[in-house]
Amino acid sequence: MTTFPQHNASDEEWTDWRWQMRHRVNDEATLARYIRITDGERHAIKATRGIFRWTITPYYASLMDAYDPQCPVRQHVVPQAPEVEPDIVGVVDPLDEVGHSPVKNLVHNYPDKVAFCVTSECAVYCRYCLRKRMVGDADYMMRKDELRDALGYIRETPAIRDVLLTGGDPLVFSDANIDWLLGELRAIPHVEVVRIGSRLPVVNPMRITPELCAVLQKHHPVWLNTHFNHPKELTPEASGAAARLADAGVPVGNQSVLLAGINDDAATLKALCEGLVGLRVRPYYLYHAQLIGGTAHLRTPIEKGMDLMREIRGHTSGFAVPAYVLDTPDGKVPLTRDYVLGRSGDHVVMRTTRGTLWAEPNPLGDYQPLTSVPEIPMPPEARTVPTGAPTFVHAEAV
Ligand code: SF4
Repeated sequence: MTTFPQHNASDEEWTDWRWQMRHRVNDEATLARYIRITDGERHAIKATRGIFRWTITPYYASLMDAYDPQCPVRQHVVPQAPEVEPDIVGVVDPLDEVGHSPVKNLVHNYPDKVAFCVTSECAVYCRYCLRKRMVGDADYMMRKDELRDALGYIRETPAIRDVLLTGGDPLVFSDANIDWLLGELRAIPHVEVVRIGSRLPVVNPMRITPELCAVLQKHHPVWLNTHFNHPKELTPEASGAAARLADAGVPVGNQSVLLAGINDDAATLKALCEGLVGLRVRPYYLYHAQLIGGTAHLRTPIEKGMDLMREIRGHTSGFAVPAYVLDTPDGKVPLTRDYVLGRSGDHVVMRTTRGTLWAEPNPLGDYQPLTSVPEIPMPPEARTVPTGAPTFVHAEAV
């Protein structure tokens, strides 16, 4: 029988976050030590070359089921055949983040908040990533002078009271760089809230060292939102990382993405949310998957997400229930009947929190929803993703 030996590492190396980063899996020969690669995965690895890179920490790779291509961890990070199938609505930048960036990598879409993409590097590249257009791309790395330019914009914009450090993944920075960035932000009087968005507690939990926690503690209040999507990710290592953050006084929330075939059933979502609460991590958002090119196979009908929320709410602790939302160019919309006005053919029409109308391309397919959403005519003022917006999938790859 084939066996799948992992990297030959000592305990000391395996538990060193930098070793994990240096030994990431990003070639077929190394991947084959972890899983029996399918023809579809081999094809996708080739066909997505130059479109969206892949890389996996040895720790996260060790969570993959070697023999099951449907393994949720595997589907997160190993290129999948459907990624190169036609995706008529998938685009490069569905939230128009580039159009909302007054300086490089600083997204200013809400009056009082900015998302500061301090790096384009991540520990792994998730196949459905909202920032697929930039993650792993050297052009979006930030030099020190570019970080200073973004800090200058924040300093000169008194309306900004909430800064999210994101990316890429800010925790790939050294402790010294994180200390410097947090210190610069803390020196700006109008910045009240500093948040970090990081997937490292999930994919490289060794990063949450006592030294990092000491840096975060020095700049309190610092909040951290992480990104678990499946109970399989709730390992003893991840639990240790969450405990170290909580013990350092960092409130930790979780932002999941609803992904077809990965976590779009009530039992999985409930186990995830309850498992997170056990780790002292508050389930915060369940995002509807974005219209990123090459991810049509991972999107669900919005009614399915609404049905799942009905199945969870009232059947677990209230604080274990995240808010199901869709991010739009006009901000996040809670996907409840208060905001979802109805379905117009293949679009779901909703009122944003800014009062505008947004029509999300979202075919129902064969799904028979329990949540009844009325069929309505398309309001002429509703905005949607422009037809013909740039997508990732090159014609020759299809
Ligand atoms: S870690 Fe976050 S930013 Fe990086 S690829 Fe995954 S979803 Fe995208």
